[in-house]
Amino acid sequence: MTIYFPADVQLASRYVKQAIPLMVTNGIAPNPCNFALWFIYVTNRDQELKKILDQMLEEKKIFTEETCRNLYKKYVFKDEVNLQEGLQVSLTSVLRELMGSVNKAKDGADDFQRSLEQSLESVSGDLTSSSLEDTIKLLIQTTQTIKSVTGDFQDQLESAENEIIELRRRLHEEEQHTNVDALTQVGNRRAFDKRMIELFQNKKGYMTLVLIDLDNFKKLNDTYGHLMGDKVLQGVGKTLQNICPKNALVARYGGEEFVLLLEVSQEAAYQIAETIRASLKKLILKKKNSGQIIENITASFGVAQKIEGEFPDQLIERADKALYTAKENGRDRVQVAN
Ligand code: GH3
Ligand code: MG
Ligand code: MG
Repeated sequence: MTIYFPADVQLASRYVKQAIPLMVTNGIAPNPCNFALWFIYVTNRDQELKKILDQMLEEKKIFTEETCRNLYKKYVFKDEVNLQEGLQVSLTSVLRELMGSVNKAKDGADDFQRSLEQSLESVSGDLTSSSLEDTIKLLIQTTQTIKSVTGDFQDQLESAENEIIELRRRLHEEEQHTNVDALTQVGNRRAFDKRMIELFQNKKGYMTLVLIDLDNFKKLNDTYGHLMGDKVLQGVGKTLQNICPKNALVARYGGEEFVLLLEVSQEAAYQIAETIRASLKKLILKKKNSGQIIENITASFGVAQKIEGEFPDQLIERADKALYTAKENGRDRVQVAN
């Protein structure tokens, strides 16, 4: 029989790529004899050999060194020179392809690139004087080198990726930290200022500001203590976040004052404020040691929708005025700005 090595380099390299995994999955030792046998197997050129190997696979026979050597002698040996040239072509092309895909995947992977280039040089050299066994040994060595280099490379990529994920997580955490009010976990003043600028820059759509000031909070502190006052502020923060739409900014403006930035009309914001007002009234907090109950928490609201050409401080001032009116009119109410 004749060992067929296609002149088509791509086809040849496809055979190499088929033969190696076949050997790996069937636990066939990567020795020179085996490689030659399995190369012939995937090329489908020798039906007799294919039949023998298929049967061995089916019967899950162990490919001992002796079996391999005998098959090798019978089916491969006489075509040594031919095989040697074919292998060289195939391997070179496999390596080239590998290099190409690695290049595409990672521009900066210089070390990996260099190591592949070295492997390529060593198999592209003049092999006419070396024996078939040497050629195949080289092939095995090279594939092993690639395997280990690829492994290292993947480890490096993986750890770099993990580092990036960790870094991103920490950045995100820091960012959260600088924008979140520590007591209530809603946005802080900084977050409010940031969103205010963003919304003023983006001229499209509605923007309504709601200022919220808890009623008689000084009295609440005096009656139940500052710690309970803090608990109330936390409860208020949660209520605001639960009720407001996802894209709204909820922030603590300072002390017992909160602010909402809503991308809705004044009318819709009024409804949201009313829902919050009703919800706060239902909020009940219990003092642990005394069992004392805090209820009827109320707040006053000033609602102002941004008007064309208005500056941020003008909008805040209008909302503040509306809030003041709500307080003057008896608290626990929502006042829309003029
Ligand atoms: P009004 O209805 O007019 O708003 O009356 P008020 O008592 O709520 O208003 P005032 O501005 O007189 O008092 C606000 C109180 O809020 C005073 C202050 O002790 C309290 N306060 C501000 N920040 C905090 C805080 O972080 N925790 C607690 N527990 N209280 C706070
Ligand atoms: Mg106040
Ligand atoms: Mg108040």
